[in-house]
Formats: sequence, C-alpha cells, structure tokens
Amino acid sequence: MSKALWSFALPRLLASLAVAFLFGAWVGHIQLALLLTLGGIVVLNYVRLYRLEYWLRKRASVDPPELPGTWGDVVALIVRVYRRKLFHKRRVVDLFREFRRMTTAVPDGIVLLGQEREILWFNRNAARLLGLRRKVDFGQRIDNLVRYPAFIRYVGTGDFTLPVHLTVGGENPRHLALQIVHYGAGQKLLLIRDVTREVRIEAMRKDFVANASHELRSPLTVIAGYVDTLVDEPGLDSYWRMPLEEMRRQTARMQAVVDDLIELSRLESTTAEAGDDPVDVPGILSLIKRDLAARPEPTPTFELRLEATAGLRGSESELHSVFANLIGNAVKYTPATGNVSAHWWIDATGAHFLVSDTGVGIARVHLPRLTERFYRVDPGRARTSGGSGLGLAIVKHALQRHGATLEIDSVEGEGSTFTCHFPLRRVVEQGE
Ligand code: ADP
Repeated sequence: MSKALWSFALPRLLASLAVAFLFGAWVGHIQLALLLTLGGIVVLNYVRLYRLEYWLRKRASVDPPELPGTWGDVVALIVRVYRRKLFHKRRVVDLFREFRRMTTAVPDGIVLLGQEREILWFNRNAARLLGLRRKVDFGQRIDNLVRYPAFIRYVGTGDFTLPVHLTVGGENPRHLALQIVHYGAGQKLLLIRDVTREVRIEAMRKDFVANASHELRSPLTVIAGYVDTLVDEPGLDSYWRMPLEEMRRQTARMQAVVDDLIELSRLESTTAEAGDDPVDVPGILSLIKRDLAARPEPTPTFELRLEATAGLRGSESELHSVFANLIGNAVKYTPATGNVSAHWWIDATGAHFLVSDTGVGIARVHLPRLTERFYRVDPGRARTSGGSGLGLAIVKHALQRHGATLEIDSVEGEGSTFTCHFPLRRVVEQGE
C-alpha cells in the first residue's frame, strides 16, 4: 500500500507543476507560478509534519490526525507499530504478574543470586524461611546474611549436587534443606525447602525401630534359652527334634536381625564422628581369620595380606563390625571351592581395606542400592544364608563415622570387591 502511495506521490507532484506551468504560461509568469506552487507544497508538508509531531507527543490522549496521501500512510504505519508494541508490553506485564503469583504460591523459598552470590531477587517464602528483608537485602551476598557454618562451608565447596541441611530458629526449630542450582550465565538459584515434617517423621521412625528392637530383645533371649535347653534335652521325643531345631535356627535369625537393628539405630542416632581410640586393625583381621578357620562347615579358601602394621583411630567395635561383615559376606556368597582374599595397606592417600571374592557377584543395577536397609539381591538365598539384610547398612554408617568411604565393584557370576578408604588423619602407627 505504501509503495502504491509513493508511486502516486511523484506523478501528483509532476501534475501540480505541469498545471502551474500551463497556468504561468497563460498569465505570462511561468517562474512565479512554479515558485508559488512549490512554496505551497512545502508549507502544506510542514503543516502536516507539525500535526504528526504533535500527535506523536500526545498520542496517549489524542486521536491520530487524518492526513491524506503519503502522510496518512505514515500515520497508519505508526499506529500499527504502536499497537503491536502495546500488545507485547501487555503480554510481558501479564507474564511477569503470572510469574510473581506463581513464585508466591510455590511452597519453597527461591533466591536468585548473581555472579558474586549477591541477592538479585527472592520470593515471599524465602524471606519467611531465611528472615530476608525486601529491598534492604537486595545486592547483599547470601553468605553474609545466612551465617550458618554448614551453609558457608557448602557455598565454599562449590559442590552443589546435594542440599545442605540447617536447623534454624531457637525455641521452635525448623529444619531447612538448601540447594544451589546453576542456570544462565554464572547465575544461581538458591532453593529452600522446609523439611521439618520429614525430619520429625524420620526421627520418629528411628525411635520406633530402636524401641521395638529393644523390647523384642529380652523375650527373644528367653525363648532362645528355652529352645536351646529343649533341643539339648537327651530324652526328647524324636518327633519334636526337627521342629525344635528349626525353631532354634529361626530364633537365632531373629536375634541377629534385632541385634543388627539395635546396632544400626545406635549408629544412626549419632551424627558425630567416631572417637579416636587406637584400634589394632591387623589384630582384628587376624582374629576374624582365626574365627573363620574354626567354622565347622566348609568355607572358601581365605587369604589375608597385611601390608601395613598401622591401625586406625576410631571405635574398635564398629571397625570390627565393618571388617567382619565384609569378610562374612564374601564367605557367605562364595562357594566352598572359591577364594576370598582380604588386603590391608596404607599409601599417601590413607589406609585401605579390600576384600574380594570369586563368588556369585552382583548385577550392576543392584550396586547403588546395596547399602540400603534390608536390600537383598536375591532375597531367597540371603534369607536361607541367615543374613539380616542390614550388614552393609551398618558397614556404611560405621565407615561414615570414621570419615571413610565404601567402593563396591562386582561382576555377576565372577565375584565382588568391596574396598574401604580411610583418611590419613585416622591412621595410627601401632605402639604410638
Ligand atoms: P545380608 O545379611 O542379606 O547379607 P547385607 O546388607 O550384608 O545383607 O548385604 C546385602 C545384599 O548384598 C545381600 O543380600 C547380597 O545379595 C549382596 N551381597 C553382599 N555382599 C556380597 C558379596 N560379597 N557377594 C555377592 N553378593 C553380596
């Protein structure tokens, strides 16, 4: 349309000049007629330019001027561009309002952080959970406002794969899980979740398990005592021998489960690191080897390689439980014709204990879940072998308390390797 108008504009100008020329020739003043016509055209255009400029300044309250020709086309174009801009602006404002409503409705706290971890924006729940103040705290570094050592350490490490847990508030403490998420160019999002309810339920669950296992222990001891006496009774009717022996086996299993539950509850109830009594690790391993050799049933060949005489600082009973569980499992899940080897050594990174077997192995899918309570690869086999399903959970917790980690490697059908890595600060030379 504008092209058409432009193509009209030139012929119209030429037509006006032609009329002026003819009129000038007729009256005998061609130059004057042309000059007057051009002057008139310039003045007309100035008037229209003025009307356009006036409207542009007051376009919010004044209707667009009705101008003919190319000027009218320019006005129509401006009106179109202006309407489009207004439409987009309204959409952005609507979207922003929607975003604000959404972030207010989200039950979690959200804080937007800049490159230097300075606060750019936060939602209402973040203000409530962390005690942040609108406007005053904008631009402040988050680690200057949330002064909990655990959070400052978390921010310092730069590893944000897991959330950090904080307990805030004095009289009525709340438990918060804070996690930083990277996005955009160097910007971060701090997510704050109130996990008070989950923490309370978890504490109740732990208390319940600990109390239930303690309550079960005494009656089980009594039952086991009577069953033992009955089985050993020389005058026992042969009809009762089989069921009583089965009762003895099952009672022993129940006792093993209850003992492991109590041990696990004890480990879970303390988040602190284990003490630092010197523990003679080579001594414990040799003792476990002796116990194994004394077993009446056939067991796989067991080889113990002690490359270091040093021990560890920690809890003797917990470390015994770690090594006995790992070696016990290797023996349990390896046929009597197979081999189990244990290895204790120290290098520049710390102390290491490795136990590998040529047993049934574990499929890769099970490895990440192996240390969960009651997780069993083959429930039938594990139950008949008398396992409680808590051994590796105990190992994991006891290792955690010693600042150690557990590495599991296994190929199904070929065997497994369990390695414990202890930090150097836990290593102690014997006789120190
Ligand atoms: P359990 O008392 O059943 O042995 P654990 O927690 O000690 O419980 O082990 C969990 C599961 O891991 C076991 O049921 C078993 O399937 C698997 N497992 C542990 N150690 C080994 C091993 N050395 N070889 C094969 N499977 C193993």
